[in-house]
Amino acid sequence: MLQIDNLHAEIASENGGGKKILDGLTLTVNAGEVHAIMGPNGAGKSTLAYVLGGRPGYEVTEGSVIFRGQDLLAMDPHERAAAGLFLGFQYPVEIPGVSNIQFLREALNAQRRARGEEAMTGGDFLKLAKEKAGLLKLDMEMLKRNVNVGFSGGEKKRAEMVQMGILDPAFAVLDETDSGLDIDALRVVGDGINAIMRNPEKGVLLITHYQRLLDVVQPDRVSILSKGRIVKTGGPELATDLEREGYDAVMADA
Ligand code: ADP
Ligand code: MG
Ligand code: MG
Repeated sequence: MLQIDNLHAEIASENGGGKKILDGLTLTVNAGEVHAIMGPNGAGKSTLAYVLGGRPGYEVTEGSVIFRGQDLLAMDPHERAAAGLFLGFQYPVEIPGVSNIQFLREALNAQRRARGEEAMTGGDFLKLAKEKAGLLKLDMEMLKRNVNVGFSGGEKKRAEMVQMGILDPAFAVLDETDSGLDIDALRVVGDGINAIMRNPEKGVLLITHYQRLLDVVQPDRVSILSKGRIVKTGGPELATDLEREGYDAVMADA
């Protein structure tokens, strides 16, 4: 489903030239899999998410990414989304002046049009939004407010998962979706990820610092990212080893 091969990427710096962040990253995620990426701060986890999303300012200097048989790096961010890629970010943006409902409906219909499908009507959309808000235990009133404005950290993450539910992507890259969540919100968000994405035809790249989200969204594979490359891949036990022994100890025998 997602095949990353020998990916090298730089962040453009102000004085020209780039700062090398990803350094030969190779990783495959098959349909039906949740693949967790763990790694120390500064390893390049968010950079990987940004590069997959096609964010400006990141330059791929070598390597390839094949997404559902297509050359992902040749697509612009909207084409990536229309092809079924969803990105959840560590710091969701606020959009004053635009209600969540408007934003979500436009996001969905932009993707539908790009796929040559008809836009969803207001009534059908509201039904869909209610269903997904219920799944994430987010009050519909929150969706009438401006996007993320005045939302708590947990509400932003739940609103983002409502968005994921509405878009129904084939593949989700979730960057530290657990950051800033208390135990109850972590359970709701984790259950939401399972409900929306646990499907033999879907895949998830779950980027996280901690084991706790992985207790709810149980990964099939776990990889450790360090200094821009994958240094170790294993089963779910790798995450528990990390939690118990720390990165240095686990990576020492990588
Ligand atoms: P992680 O998500 O694993 O903590 P990041 O991908 O955010 O790591 O960062 C990887 C490296 O890139 C770090 O050394 C960080 O300092 C650096 N970095 C991130 N963003 C920028 C930027 N805009 N300009 C320069 N360096 C950056
Ligand atoms: Mg970080
Ligand atoms: Mg990060």
